[in-house]
Amino acid sequence: MKYRKFGKTNIELSVLGFGSMRLPVIDNNQANINESEAIRMMHYAFDNGINYIDTAYPYHEGQSELVVGKALKHRYRDKIHLATKLPSWAIESYSDFDKYLDEQLAKLQTDHIDFYLIHNLHANVWPKIRDLGVLNWCDNIIKSGKVRYVGFSIHDTAILFKEILDSYNWDFCQIQYNYMNEDIQVGTKGIEYAYQKEIPVIIMEPLLGGSLVQLPTQIKQLFDNAGKDHINMALQWLWNKKEVSLVLSGMSSMEQLVKNIEYASKASINSFSAKDYDLMEKIKNEYSKLVPIPCTKCRYCLPCPKNIEIPHLFGLYNDAVVHKDKSQWLYRVIYNNNIPEDRRADACIKCRKCEAKCPQGIKIANWMPKVHSELYEP
Ligand code: SF4
Ligand code: SF4
Repeated sequence: MKYRKFGKTNIELSVLGFGSMRLPVIDNNQANINESEAIRMMHYAFDNGINYIDTAYPYHEGQSELVVGKALKHRYRDKIHLATKLPSWAIESYSDFDKYLDEQLAKLQTDHIDFYLIHNLHANVWPKIRDLGVLNWCDNIIKSGKVRYVGFSIHDTAILFKEILDSYNWDFCQIQYNYMNEDIQVGTKGIEYAYQKEIPVIIMEPLLGGSLVQLPTQIKQLFDNAGKDHINMALQWLWNKKEVSLVLSGMSSMEQLVKNIEYASKASINSFSAKDYDLMEKIKNEYSKLVPIPCTKCRYCLPCPKNIEIPHLFGLYNDAVVHKDKSQWLYRVIYNNNIPEDRRADACIKCRKCEAKCPQGIKIANWMPKVHSELYEP
């Protein structure tokens, strides 16, 4: 296993973290974790160098934290860095912050969380919990010793990411990032900004919810022709970057775990050759051709009089269409949970002010009903 120093802390974290949102389950029931197999996998991970485990309040309908707590109890708790997340969307008052943290400590059978994240900050929830005093509360939980380091996770734009990053002395942050998401959500601009501020970045969805594992045939062929393992290349593309501290993978089987540990043993900054960069550029270009809306995220179309984040919605739509089989659900969750109702695609009044400014000539207003019908779930 390879390790990287984590930001301004003196902690060395394994480059691969164990994500606990896709644990093995029984009868395809997400609330029914195959506990013995999940714990066997976690112990194998810990015994083979992984020293960071990530869970969250809602994973596996609340069961993930319980299983992680059982796996860590006794001989592993002091050796492994435990991360979990505050359900930001559930907070209604200041006292709710402590209520959820105390419940999580009990479920995890521990007196402290090493890395605590404010989960899934987005344009809808951030102003609300900021005004309820979340940043003051972060100071308090560190002082009390219940939490060692605080961070946040986000699936929103680079603009909101910067605003949140600049609003507090965060110890770390967590974003969705992979070779197909360089310009989507926080993207490359965001990780470079965090690096410049010496805030370590943890990567989630490195394989885009499995979409970069089950590739379209013509894309997989490009990797095969180059004699490259497509999963290894997707992970090494991340570890190659100095801005990436740790890559989380939500593993569902022992086979995946063993393979990922093998990949992580080769992780290295600046390991890519000129040939590797060329191959990944070619693959990104070919993959992008499968994308329906040719939006470059230049943002010239904004502001929209209805405050619709046009490039963000187009990004969600494109990903939902391209990765229909594997991760469409993820983009629907983001659209329905994170985008305020009055800023969704169906709020478009077809004024077409945006279209006059779009250098790609995209008929934005015509796409809006398609975006909404693809992503909206009543
Ligand atoms: S056409 Fe729709 S998306 Fe474009 S500026 Fe007008 S309301 Fe906004
Ligand atoms: S102007 Fe066009 S290409 Fe640029 S972000 Fe808006 S829709 Fe996308």
